[in-house]
Amino acid sequence: MKVIRLREGRERSLQRRHPWVFDSAVARGGGDPGETVRVESQDGRFLAWAAFSPASGIRARAWSFDEAQRIEPPFFHDRVARAVQARERLGIASDGVRLVHGESDGLPGLVVDRYADTLVAQFLSAGAERWKPVLADGLLQATGLAKLYERSDANARTLEGLQPATGWLRGEGATETVIHEHGWSFGVDIATGHKTGFYLDQRDSRRRFADWVKRLGSQRVLNCFCYTGGFTVAALAGGAGHVTSIDSSGPALERARSNVARNGFEAGRADWMDADVNESLRRFLEAGRSFDAIVLDPPKLAPTAQHAERAARAYKDLNRLALKLLEPGGVLFTYSCSGGISADLFHKIVAGAGADAGADGYIAERVGAAPDHPMTLAFPEGEYLKGLIIVRK
Ligand code: SAH
Repeated sequence: MKVIRLREGRERSLQRRHPWVFDSAVARGGGDPGETVRVESQDGRFLAWAAFSPASGIRARAWSFDEAQRIEPPFFHDRVARAVQARERLGIASDGVRLVHGESDGLPGLVVDRYADTLVAQFLSAGAERWKPVLADGLLQATGLAKLYERSDANARTLEGLQPATGWLRGEGATETVIHEHGWSFGVDIATGHKTGFYLDQRDSRRRFADWVKRLGSQRVLNCFCYTGGFTVAALAGGAGHVTSIDSSGPALERARSNVARNGFEAGRADWMDADVNESLRRFLEAGRSFDAIVLDPPKLAPTAQHAERAARAYKDLNRLALKLLEPGGVLFTYSCSGGISADLFHKIVAGAGADAGADGYIAERVGAAPDHPMTLAFPEGEYLKGLIIVRK
């Protein structure tokens, strides 16, 4: 059994059941990539069983804080089964669901989404990588499904010293699938789509957007960073007269177009721009255009707190432009999915944008990721997506 010994005082976060051990906290000891190590305080007290990760700044991720726990296949099968059961309790009325959300489900580095009858998994830490076959079997067992596709091609793998890996892990079939939420359907490409294929975390916000568009009778809608058209379909379902959608990814726009058709909306109610959002918003301002409802859902501009300052400027600029383009009485749905930007900071950034735009607004709602992407009491980093719903004065 391998041991890592922490520096004095560095045991506190583990005692609060936070699962990360940073490299700076380790006094000595180690193991192979993903190997289970016993983490001890400076004076030799047991703290956790953790997966060692020699290449990462997060040098170990805790599996369990219980000394009697054996980190063996039944442990992983149990954790996976609990995560799946927790989703059943949430009663999510969709066949596109996040079943495992890493640390929040006690499985650091593992992300699993279900798209209809297909599971898509990301193994993003050395520990998850090491237990991949066991986790794969556990997932099939817990869900009763037969197909599992791997999308371990996220940047986070590089930080763990792992090569990208993609393809069928269990079973096989088409990589094109269709999911349903709120009575709408969306085509998802699990092999080439972003992340595992779809932004399931915005499910509840898409519903809210449809409701707001309906309530306000918004006619001219702008969907920035539209990806495969989730918010576009929501706006059309809410009765929008016309939706302009912008994204810089050609394949995403193509799929967005087909998603509009799939839901039976006339193609003429939507137009699509393969363009940079910031530039497009500036052009709209110059052209004197305005909108009744706007969505701003940019990609992660600050992956970590170190990038926060530059990202803050980018968020501010986008929000300033959007608020200028929004009619009084119109609604802005604005988001940050950056772990490095707290909900508080995001609020301040958008407030600054409003001041610069000369536009005030009512914060009607604060929103986050759908509940199948949970944050937990012990792991506040689980809160990555935050949004504000603002009605312009
Ligand atoms: N709202 C979407 C998810 C948005 S993800 C949904 O509900 O599904 C962010 C999107 O921004 C991606 O599709 C990416 O292609 C796009 N993107 C990234 N940088 C961009 C830029 N500078 N201009 C336009 N689109 C951009």
